[in-house]
Amino acid sequence: MIYDTIAAISTPVGEGGIGIVRTSGDDTLQIINKIFKSPSGENWYRGSHRLYYGHIVNPADGRIIDEVLMSVMMAPHTYTRENVAEINCHGGMVPLLEVLKVVLSSGARQALPGEFTKRAFLNGRLDLNQAESVIDIIRAKTGSSLKVAMNQLRGDLSDKIRHIQDQMLGMLAELEAAIDFPEDEVEERKSSAMISNAASVMAQLDELIESAETGRIYREGIRTVIAGRPNVGKSSLLNALLRENRAIVTEVPGTTRDIIEEMLNIKGIPLRLIDTAGIRRTEDYVEKIGVQKTRESLESADMVLLVVDVINGFTDEDRDIVAKFKAKKIIVIINKIDLDGDILIDLNDLPVVNISAKTGEGLSLLEDKIMEVALADGAGLPEAVTVSNVRHQTAIKEARISMEDFNGALKSGLTADLSSIELRSAWESLGEITGSTVTEDLLDRIFTDFCIGK
Ligand code: GDP
Repeated sequence: MIYDTIAAISTPVGEGGIGIVRTSGDDTLQIINKIFKSPSGENWYRGSHRLYYGHIVNPADGRIIDEVLMSVMMAPHTYTRENVAEINCHGGMVPLLEVLKVVLSSGARQALPGEFTKRAFLNGRLDLNQAESVIDIIRAKTGSSLKVAMNQLRGDLSDKIRHIQDQMLGMLAELEAAIDFPEDEVEERKSSAMISNAASVMAQLDELIESAETGRIYREGIRTVIAGRPNVGKSSLLNALLRENRAIVTEVPGTTRDIIEEMLNIKGIPLRLIDTAGIRRTEDYVEKIGVQKTRESLESADMVLLVVDVINGFTDEDRDIVAKFKAKKIIVIINKIDLDGDILIDLNDLPVVNISAKTGEGLSLLEDKIMEVALADGAGLPEAVTVSNVRHQTAIKEARISMEDFNGALKSGLTADLSSIELRSAWESLGEITGSTVTEDLLDRIFTDFCIGK
């Protein structure tokens, strides 16, 4: 397929050792020929997949803009399957913008967010979920999150989806045959075989749905709040966890009265810790908003770390929190075990961990427990995860519902042409994952989530 030639700065905004302006499209070589000056003169091009040293100049007045190393990669073995040049400039905003400017004035168009990856999809190098995994790789929060995204890029999910779709197509073909030859005497036997095939497809879909929750945790992190009465040691625990896990990936900024979110790496599980230090009665209006936000974040949390201390023990207030959030994953943390005190626990099945945020005792056990509880409902290790994206999960669930209807139609003896409608719709839902049945609208929505230059 032929599209126009696009260009963008592909490295982050700011100062760096190098920065890259990337182009992709048929006119790549023509464009760089106008702006690239090599010490070896006009016939500098020695072939594809090579690195060239030279200068980028403004073709209007011959002024040198920057000294660069440029890689030129001709189709089809490139990221987009088009002709690609990557100009490695000095990594400052001004040289990058100036280089981009002459690339654009020489015939390229500014790329839209995600457009390079979209081309890789449109040109058939990646299917849609592989293309989406690129953004997951860039945003991976822990090594395990990266593993999940890499599996997706490698095509693990695509393979499974296509395998299931093939089985559906096989069934569709049989149904078509039944429509054409309704008197077929073996129809009875066939329909019972088809019911068992449908059951097998549903089981495979169920397996994918099961791994999705774990996948979501690796991809997005598990939203966690530290709850508990004042002075039990919530902030101390947060600091202790932060100290032990220096691989903090992001910190969502906010004022002291806003919600602070820290990203922690707990044994590969990204923990999005929401600090609720401000949950108390207050007359201050601004602070009230903060408290309200804290309440909301409590409601939307996946996991609650409920801190109590050995001094005051487990109070009615704590019992209320447990009752209110019993649908969530809860870990009760008994803090300050370095002090004297005894605490009576009557918490049925709730996991309890003893720690001292002050001395660090028990923190490692707490991390084990967090990992265990976080993954309790899922398939566990990142290797076992194939679905991590909510969009994919939804499509699989829709396919599962259509299969259920198809199964019902088969069992109630509906005609082949009627029951095939549900089967076809299940096949189409799965196609949205790989992109074979996707709409332009959805494509736009997916790729605008990318950054420019990717
Ligand atoms: P928060 O109000 O729940 O956030 O509690 P803080 O983290 O501010 O702690 C309240 C007080 O308890 C502070 O004086 C801490 O130094 C103290 N504290 C917190 N954790 C421990 C602990 O494990 N052992 C001891 N002895 N004191 C602690």
